Amino acid sequence: MSEQYKALPDLGARSDEITIYAGPCSVESSEQFNEVAACISELGLTWIRGGAFKPRTNPHSFQGLGEEALQIMAEAGERFGLKTLTEVVDSAHCDLVHSYVDGMQIGTRNMANFSLLKNVGKVTAESKKMVLFKRGMAASIDEWLAAADYLTMEGNDNIVLCERGLRTFETATRFTLDISAVPVIHKRCLFPICVDVSHPAGQRDLVPSLARAAVAVGCDSLMIEVHPDPHKALSDGPQQLTCEQFALLVAELRELAACMGKKIV
Ligand code: PEP
Ligand code: MN
Repeated sequence: MSEQYKALPDLGARSDEITIYAGPCSVESSEQFNEVAACISELGLTWIRGGAFKPRTNPHSFQGLGEEALQIMAEAGERFGLKTLTEVVDSAHCDLVHSYVDGMQIGTRNMANFSLLKNVGKVTAESKKMVLFKRGMAASIDEWLAAADYLTMEGNDNIVLCERGLRTFETATRFTLDISAVPVIHKRCLFPICVDVSHPAGQRDLVPSLARAAVAVGCDSLMIEVHPDPHKALSDGPQQLTCEQFALLVAELRELAACMGKKIV
């Protein structure tokens, strides 16, 4: 950081690595998931995401493959040497999800589900598995950080906060990405901050611009949805990148990150 900005509070040394949590919105089959896993591992990345239990706005939409998806994820993680991340939507699934994956995600619709937060905190207290904690789509940063204490008070402070866009009057994008959340979080706490660029975009052609913005603003990690054939996706098809598009974007982001003395993992 250049001298003239040094007056800004800087709570601590940040990692020089930017982690990408990429993968399909939903795990749909082992073929689909393995294809994305192969692409991610060929790119030298470390994590794969995928939805097993899907918190769908419409109860008639695809709800996820449940435990079968967790098995597919664990096998692919093992085979391709990737860490796995999935969302937990129900306290009753905490132990099950925890037993299969390396990181547990709490989605925007559950940010204020305090009993779920306490249960995720409890189940990860010993393992210290990473919890990716998304901001509620209508939550202030104060509310989000206060809710994060429900996780840490159980004994796990391996939390990654994730900005994923807010509900505003704007309809040109799916959600309004609050890019300012990144420097604000860096001033306010030591948790790394991830930017999910897929859910606010809602359309794949906006994803690269938001990803570049997130890297430039200083994010610690990115979430990007990737699907081998987005037109056939069972959820969030319009915003998912193909594996080829994702590979191009990662190459671009690596150049940008290098300008900032960082590397993408
Ligand atoms: C997701 O990451 O698959 C998801 C459902 O995200 P969000 O909770 O941000 O809508
Ligand atoms: Mn999705």
